Parts: sequence; C-alpha cells; structure tokens
Amino acid sequence: MGMPITVTPLENLDSFTNDVRLRTADIVNSEILPREGELFPQRKGTAVSDEDKAQARVAREEVKEKVRAAGLWAPHLPKEYGGMGLEFLPHAYMNEILAYAMGAASMFGVVAPNSGNQKILVKYGTEEQKQKWLVPLIEGTMESGFSMTEPDTAGSDPRSLRTTARKDGDHWVIDGHKWFTSNGFDADFFIVMCRAEDPSGEEGRSGSMVQIIVPTDTPGVEIVRGVGIWGHHTSDHCEIKYNSVRVPIENALGRVGQGHEAAQERLGAGRIYHCMNSVGQMWRAFDLMVERAMTREVHGGLLRDKQFIQGFIAESYIDLQTSRMMTIHAAEKVDRGDPEARTDISALKIYVPAAFTRVVDRAIQVWGAAGVSNDLPLSAMYLGARTLRLADGPDEVHKILIAKNVLRKYEKGESWDFSR
Ligand SMILES: Cc1cc2nc3c(=O)[nH]c(=O)nc-3n(C[C@H](O)[C@H](O)[C@H](O)COP(=O)(O)OP(=O)(O)OC[C@H]3O[C@@H](n4cnc5c(N)ncnc54)[C@H](O)[C@@H]3O)c2cc1C
Repeated sequence: MGMPITVTPLENLDSFTNDVRLRTADIVNSEILPREGELFPQRKGTAVSDEDKAQARVAREEVKEKVRAAGLWAPHLPKEYGGMGLEFLPHAYMNEILAYAMGAASMFGVVAPNSGNQKILVKYGTEEQKQKWLVPLIEGTMESGFSMTEPDTAGSDPRSLRTTARKDGDHWVIDGHKWFTSNGFDADFFIVMCRAEDPSGEEGRSGSMVQIIVPTDTPGVEIVRGVGIWGHHTSDHCEIKYNSVRVPIENALGRVGQGHEAAQERLGAGRIYHCMNSVGQMWRAFDLMVERAMTREVHGGLLRDKQFIQGFIAESYIDLQTSRMMTIHAAEKVDRGDPEARTDISALKIYVPAAFTRVVDRAIQVWGAAGVSNDLPLSAMYLGARTLRLADGPDEVHKILIAKNVLRKYEKGESWDFSR
C-alpha cells in the first residue's frame, strides 16, 4: 500500500552517490513496494500459510538477485568481502531510501545483529576467525547474535556486567546470565561480552572486558526463552544462561581489555544505521499520512483541508527534515574522522527515535483504526520507534555524554564550534 518513493539526483553529491540513490529507489519502487504482501505475508492481515512463507522466501531471493545485479549488496561490508565498501555518508543516503520499504534491508544483505557482528569480525577477527565465522555469516550459511545485556545488571552501563570468562588451560570457561540476545533461536554462534577474570588487559573498569565467540551448540549454553515483547508471548530476543561454557582460548575477539571498545564501536556505527533506517521509515509514514489526508472525507470535507491535519503535516515535515540533516551531518563528521562526531551521534540517537515516534503517531491518527491494523506498516514502525529510545543506549545516557563532552570543552576555556 502507498505511493512510490520520489528520489531525484542531487547536484551537491558525486555521481557515484547519486547513482546509488537512484538505483536503490528503482529496486524499492519496482521490486519491493508493489510486492510487499508477497514478500512479507504477515502484513497481509490474514493468516499466513506455510505455502505463503515458502513463496515469500522465493520472492525475497529473487529480489536479492536483482539487488546483487544492481551492485547494491551489503553496503556496510568492505569490497573484499563482497560488499559495497561504502563510507557513512553515501550509506546514509542509500539507507534512507531502502528503509522506505520497511524490512527491505535484509534483501540488501543487511540483517541485524549479523551485520554488526560482521563489522566487528572484519575489524577485530584473526584470519582464522574470519574464515570460520565471518565468511559463512556473509554467505548466509550461518546466523549469529550479540549477547551483552543482562537481567541483573544495567545494560546502560555495560561495564557493570557480571558474566565472567575464566582461563582454564587453553579454554575460556564462561558463566553468566544474559537476555535480549536478538536472533537467539536461529543463531549458530553468539559474540558474548564477558569480564575476564585475572585480566591481562589494561587496568580500570573496562580493562578486563573481552568478547568471546561461543557456538550455540556448546554444552552449557541454555536458551531459557524468547522474551515476549509488546504483548507477544515470545520473540527471538532470548534469555540465555551460560553454565560453565568451555570454548577454545582462540575464540576471544581481539585482546582482553578491548571488549568495551569493540562494543562501543559496534554500537556507534549501529546508532547511525538505526537512525538512517528511522529516517526512511518516517518518510514512508509521512507519505502515507499525506496520501490519506488527500482522500479521506470526514465531516463534509477532506482531511487535508482541516487545520489540525495541516498541523500534523507541517510538524512531521519539520521532524523529518531535522532528523535527516542531523543524520547526514553526523555521517559526514564520522567520514571526516572528526572526534566530535560521537557527540553528534548521541544527539541524533536521542532526537531521531523521538521524532520518528511523533511522525508515526500522527500518521496513525490520520489513518484512524486502519493506522493500528496490520494492513499498514505504521503499527510495527511505532513499536520499533519506541523501542529505539532505550535500545543501543537509552536517551539519558546519551544526554549525559553530550553534556560531558560540551562541558569538557568549556572547562578548557574553549567553546563549541557549531559550524563544523
Ligand atoms: C528489542 C530489543 C532488542 C535488543 N537486542 C539486544 C541484543 O541483541 N543484544 C544485547 O546485548 N542487548 C540487546 N537489547 C538490550 C538493550 O541494549 C538494553 O535494553 C539497553 O542497553 C538498556 O539496558 P537495560 O534494559 O538493562 O536498562 P537499564 O540499564 O536498567 O536502564 C533503565 C533505564 O534507566 C534510565 N537510566 C539509565 N542510566 C541513567 C542515568 N545515568 N541517569 C538517569 N537515568 C538513567 C534509562 O531511562 C533507562 O532506560 C535489546 C533490547 C530490546 C528492547
């Protein structure tokens, strides 16, 4: 349902980035939007049969082939691993378009948490680890999860985590309790964030952190349940106990003490990707809202002529444009290697999910009952937007970080250069 995305070349962009934008829009408009019911049968609003699911798998494979042929596969991966090797800025421009078709990212080779794990393996993996875990992850013959958050410690302060990894001969022995490990049921391995006992790494609270690759069939890995969220009785966000799980010493990713840095790097990039996706989804919600306002008659007139609704349109336009600008600006800063980009990432991580929630909320209101139905992507977007305000660092933690970075500068007698 809905109109195609409108994308035209931008004069300030290089021809490569413009080309990526236009090719992405072409796939979204010609291959995905007209086939949404077939590609995502759960959105048809009727019961999904096994035949529907099988047909959807075939249809998604067909789209993936077209994406590959268009040279748009895996924008987040380096070229030597079959990806596009995009920097953040062109990736931002591509993502806002592909995310217009909710769920399309998987057909462009980007599936969280695999995509984040792929990036970590590219950066921190040894050659052997890359062959064993990264290559199958990219080829799609393996699935993975990232296991950091714990029920008994604050996820917003990951350095407080209690899962331990103890060296025993040439093995790690891992004991701990995690939850919200996404993709937990399908994963072949988890990257588990642990506190190394008797650390050989740097001193300090994060000095002993280490990420360890744990194959899910290792004895002692106990998947307790899929934690039900948003009224569903289960999900693939799993609660997992690690009961004296033994894995070879070479399964550590990077060295002991690097775990926190690696996690921050993963989450930093992830935050920009999430916000780019949010912008694309907001764009779709905006188009759906305006489309409905143009055609729905209430109380003797079209919704578009009511000032309440015009207010929704104007406020959503502002939310969408500010979110886009913040995301593109942060992506530019990351590509430039500007150390202040971290502050901007935190700012957009707070702003964009909140703006996304507001835009979708208005779109739902304009659509009335249909807005919360499964016939439209709006209700799923709404839950996703709300969740983003706490996942990947809740708002409060990012506010603290922004204030800290700003104050540090002013304490040194400097001030913030907003023109950068
Ligand atoms: C759908 C979903 C998928 C997820 N997937 C994964 C995954 O794959 N792997 C994984 O490891 N984790 C995952 N998570 C977990 C997520 O990263 C954590 O929920 C998040 O980091 C927050 O941690 P917490 O839930 O322990 O909240 P807490 O740390 O307990 O924080 C609770 C609240 O306290 C407030 N707060 C925190 N710090 C401060 C402060 N300094 N001052 C004032 N207020 C503060 C915030 O409002 C925060 O929301 C997922 C979560 C969700 C919802």
